[in-house]
Amino acid sequence: MRILVSNDDGVFAPGLKVLAEALRELGEVTVVAPDRNKSGASNSLTLDNPVRIARAENGYYAVTGTPTDCVHMAIHEILEAKPDLVVSGINSGPNLGDDVLYSGTVAAAMEGLLHGIPALALSLNGHDHAHYDSAARVAVALAKELRAASLPRRLLNINVPNLPWERILGVEVTRQGFRHRAEDVVRATDPKGLPVYWIGRPGGSADAGPGTDFHAIDHDRVSVTPLQIDLTDYQAFAPVDAWLSGLRP
Ligand code: MN
Repeated sequence: MRILVSNDDGVFAPGLKVLAEALRELGEVTVVAPDRNKSGASNSLTLDNPVRIARAENGYYAVTGTPTDCVHMAIHEILEAKPDLVVSGINSGPNLGDDVLYSGTVAAAMEGLLHGIPALALSLNGHDHAHYDSAARVAVALAKELRAASLPRRLLNINVPNLPWERILGVEVTRQGFRHRAEDVVRATDPKGLPVYWIGRPGGSADAGPGTDFHAIDHDRVSVTPLQIDLTDYQAFAPVDAWLSGLRP
């Protein structure tokens, strides 16, 4: 199996190394990751600058760009053959509910899916004393399942409790929950007295009932949310069509 591993926390992130090493039991692993932390990059491509690729001593490729750039460059430029699977992570911190719209971790996986490759995005619900091994275990198990199922074109967003494997209570298929609106922008002053701003933290969970990714994580269970790229709101077709009636030429 040829596996492409990327992330959004950057090429030096501990979760990336744990993931890449765990997946080696399944085949040939190539790591292509941003040269720095690009969390929150979403599906952005670098179009205003050239992109450079460097190879570290450990064989990892570091790209001066976004997670999407990394997977794009890997497929079009670095790898000799299209990978069988793209795995992104293991992110430091969760990607739950509407986080997926901003997530570079999910974006790297989605770029794989857009190239017709099955993809997993992995996030750990914690930053300190992180149990990346638990998330890597889920990645390996699901990669084996995808291989056994002849690599269906699926994108799975996986969040793992920050616990030792023995203390995780289960694994469930979930839907995306939803957060409250983000906290306020934080205003500060630079050394010249000019205002600077920090984007506020994400809001807490709002739609977090049974069946959601939030609910699974809150109950020490792994959440696995199958994602699709089509954002069309099919239920809005009828009212929007009615609004268009006066516009018809
Ligand atoms: Mn990140």
